[in-house]
Amino acid sequence: MKDTALRIADFKDSIFGVISRLAREHQAVNLGQGFPDFDGPEFMKDIVYKKMKEGHNQYAPFPGTPNLRQEISNYYERFYRLSYNPETQVTVTVGATEAIYLVIMGLINPGDEVIVLEPFYDSYVASIKMAGGIPVPVTMHAPDFTIDVKELTAAISPRTKLLILNNPHNPTGKVWAKDELEAVAKLTIQHDLYLLSDEVYEFLVFDGIKHIPTATLEGMKDRTITISSAGKTFGLTGWKIGWICANEKVTQACRLVHQYVTFAVSTPMQEAVAEGLKQLPDYLPGFVELYKGKRDSFYAEMKKLGFDFSLPKGTYFMMVPIAKHTKLNDVDFAMKLIKENKVATVPPSAFYLKSTEGEKFLRFCFAKKEETLRAAVENLKGL
Ligand code: PMP
Ligand code: GLN
Repeated sequence: MKDTALRIADFKDSIFGVISRLAREHQAVNLGQGFPDFDGPEFMKDIVYKKMKEGHNQYAPFPGTPNLRQEISNYYERFYRLSYNPETQVTVTVGATEAIYLVIMGLINPGDEVIVLEPFYDSYVASIKMAGGIPVPVTMHAPDFTIDVKELTAAISPRTKLLILNNPHNPTGKVWAKDELEAVAKLTIQHDLYLLSDEVYEFLVFDGIKHIPTATLEGMKDRTITISSAGKTFGLTGWKIGWICANEKVTQACRLVHQYVTFAVSTPMQEAVAEGLKQLPDYLPGFVELYKGKRDSFYAEMKKLGFDFSLPKGTYFMMVPIAKHTKLNDVDFAMKLIKENKVATVPPSAFYLKSTEGEKFLRFCFAKKEETLRAAVENLKGL
């Protein structure tokens, strides 16, 4: 039989799938793949059932239901004073993953370069490769995962078209400070680049910090493409409702790809997310409190186990240095933890193209029930 396509020749099973499979095989407590192991809010499940009963069950309009696009537009206005026209600047996607794919397929020609800040969410590089683009990594240096502006400047070439930034940041839990964001923004303006701002964890910020959407920075509204996902905000990762807010030209490009990839996203789920977004002001304080509690207690336990790192300010991940506990690299140590200690984590070297800094860490997801986190801590005591 003939070969499969070259564009996927170097693709492997994603690290999330691999780790979840190993966790099952070895009956390890799974703090690897990022998803809550508890259910999402009851009110959201009630709404989706109601929407199905009311007959919202056929294909939705391709760009998303008018209700959901309106509510997305409303919350950007309400929370951030950002105005997006729901008709021409908001597109609903199958999670943020499809959003990333659409933006890249809609913008990138073969040979175009895309700056990715490593460690990065793995689908960025896969999508860039599928478009025939060239990922150009710039490292966020530990321990604070900061960007060296000189390194970033040096990575930009005349072929650079897009830069991808994730804030709050998976896997490190970093929340970018305004001056850090501004330094990146300034370069994108100087070099006339698009900036894809992956803000799926926009509401998972702790300690009174306020999320700063990249599009709110001076001169950035038009060149920033913002994506987010109801999966994170409502703890319903299986619903797979995401969105893109961008200028009209980029929106049109994304929609042209979308119409041939998925063309329409689940109608009742969209209608339910629209209702959920209306309730954000009431819902968010409890949501943030829930995850903050998990972060604080798991962090305290990790400190007691001798892991030394600073408290993550956002997301539901911790990037934990391992050198005090092992001479192994991240992949080997992750394997040992799964097999011997029965705790699954993600080895972050999968999120790097250039630097080996990831080998010194493991990523722990704390979006888990108290009993799951307690079981993981018990198992780690054997270290
Ligand atoms: N971006 C980041 C940074 C993520 O962590 C994830 C995965 N949760 C996604 C995008 C994809 O989100 P979704 O599940 O909505 O496709
Ligand atoms: N975003 C989640 C993570 O970072 C899950 C990703 C996935 O399974 N593709 O773990």
